Amino acid sequence: TPRVFSGIQPSGGLTLGNYLGAMKRFVEMQGQGFETIYCMVDLHAITVWQDPDALRRQTRELAAGYIASGIDPEKSILFNQSQVAEHAQLAWIFNCVARMGWMKRMTQWKDKAGKNQENASLGLFAYPALMAADILVYHATHVPVGEDQKQHLELTRDIATKFNHDFKTDFFPITEPVIEGAATRVMSLRDGSKKMSKSDPSDASRINMTDDADAIAQKIRKAKTDPDALPSEADGLENRPEARNLVNIFAALADQSVDDVLRDVGGKPFSEFKPMLSELAVAKLSPISSEMARLMQQPDEIDAILRKGSDRARAIAAPILKQTYDIVGIVS
Ligand code: ATP
Ligand code: MG
Repeated sequence: TPRVFSGIQPSGGLTLGNYLGAMKRFVEMQGQGFETIYCMVDLHAITVWQDPDALRRQTRELAAGYIASGIDPEKSILFNQSQVAEHAQLAWIFNCVARMGWMKRMTQWKDKAGKNQENASLGLFAYPALMAADILVYHATHVPVGEDQKQHLELTRDIATKFNHDFKTDFFPITEPVIEGAATRVMSLRDGSKKMSKSDPSDASRINMTDDADAIAQKIRKAKTDPDALPSEADGLENRPEARNLVNIFAALADQSVDDVLRDVGGKPFSEFKPMLSELAVAKLSPISSEMARLMQQPDEIDAILRKGSDRARAIAAPILKQTYDIVGIVS
């Protein structure tokens, strides 16, 4: 069976971008003839500073978010990256396969390191090699992600290709990115040129999965837009990034195409469209956030689910790491 792997960082609270670009897709792929493996990538989160108590809370909250969104820990393997040491072990091998020049070209590195690259962590620079290891330690073939991770997945393919070439093997599969749907890149509500991110310092830039109805309505009401009415066709969204973003969000939440949405709302001013979007967002998100809140009351249960998931993940990863060591010539 084809194997799906993906992860989300416990680097803050889940956003609507994470939900539409990643989590919702994870749920859709579950039980569709794939073996699905989903992860809280805590080792990635600490590539930038995380307060220890916040990291613990965010990890459990992310686990609750996965389960509340529909990930069934029986059907999928759900676990915490750091608890399966094989990820970090394979990442070291990949650090020795990947080239500095490849890493320097990564836009996430350039964005997150900012102007002062000398002061960014070495882990942030090596992030994509760990991500390649996350995927390839399971020989995963399909990786559902948002558009922003496309470049890292190409690098994963490059690492697999170079490893296979250097060691004259076909051991690692060449992974397929799965970047689909109307909301593969949800933009900030304050700036249509910036991705919505859980680590953005501005809370008004994003909708959090834990926001209540009032907060969601207020953020959408204040979302940046242009003064024109909505177009009736998708071409009319060109050069209107904020309008496009809100329409994409609506389409993804409603499971409709952008064309269908515009057929209904074309000609309406934002003052009419925004309340429709808020109502839809609240209807879709509030059952998830209330289930998250309920699960957060039972941290021991969450930890037990993650421990069980780690054991199942390790059972797949350990033999693949062992074979990798054999190929490399490491005596183990
Ligand atoms: P951070 O700001 O800490 O990087 P993030 O919000 O970017 O957090 P990640 O944990 O880095 O979230 O990414 C988890 C998944 O969510 C990835 O598949 C990523 O592509 C997807 N994703 C993140 N932001 C968006 C977005 N704005 N639109 C669509 N998908 C997104
Ligand atoms: Mg990110």
